[in-house]
Amino acid sequence: MQKPYFRDIVSAENISVKYGDEYALRDVSFSVDAGETLCIIGSSGSGKTTLLRTLNGLQPLSAGQIEVFGDRIHTISGVQLRRKIGYVLQQPALFPHWSVAKNIGLVPRLLKWKPEQIKNRTRELLDLVNLSPEIYTKRYPSELSGGEQQRVGIARALAANPDLMLYDEPFSALDPITRTGLQQELLSLKEKLRKTTVFVTHDVNEAFLLGDSILILSEGRVVQKGSPDEIKSNPANDYVKTFIEGLHA
Ligand code: ADP
Ligand code: MG
Repeated sequence: MQKPYFRDIVSAENISVKYGDEYALRDVSFSVDAGETLCIIGSSGSGKTTLLRTLNGLQPLSAGQIEVFGDRIHTISGVQLRRKIGYVLQQPALFPHWSVAKNIGLVPRLLKWKPEQIKNRTRELLDLVNLSPEIYTKRYPSELSGGEQQRVGIARALAANPDLMLYDEPFSALDPITRTGLQQELLSLKEKLRKTTVFVTHDVNEAFLLGDSILILSEGRVVQKGSPDEIKSNPANDYVKTFIEGLHA
């Protein structure tokens, strides 16, 4: 049956996650519209990775509920769900014995695309992340810089044109110059693709550069959410103020 139109790609209502007796997320609510980029900022241990894992169906909820693409999570198969979601991690974890092209084609092969279609898509994606297909198709991960590996990680996550992209601190392991370059590229990718995105970072400048909206987490709770301008002009508390002070002009 055709789904009715839904505006929110992701909608989380009062979710909590516990590891043993400890809460990693507590009473967290937010939603992400189609085409929106939501940036989640929080210091280490604030629950950012746990939150992304809940969206991917990898993390059971202790309370609350999440809808993704209009379906309640855990009522749909995890495999089906994850095929519609691209996940980019801090360490791209490319398969070392596979060429760049083979790494990028991972999900299309699982989806049984035709070889010609995979080849064309791989070239298109390499172009999109600014890696010349002529040079990079046949390279192996060990022959790439950290920044190039992360571009391949992004291309791989985009390969089957997922409806939602999740990024978990993708640029934190890179040197500042490479990081700045990739942030600019992600910004231009955002303009081109308008893909619904949840982007996790502890870098406030990155969040304010890329986010249409921002959610600030502290110790598993939402301390503020809003547009970058709203947060800048009206920080909710001292914790948020400390983040804002890190913003370059
Ligand atoms: P962040 O990504 O913001 O650094 P995490 O979501 O990784 O935060 O972790 C949030 C809290 O949950 C931390 O206190 C962390 O130690 C704890 N935690 C994360 N994963 C596990 C796990 N598998 N088992 C137990 N505790 C965990
Ligand atoms: Mg994390």
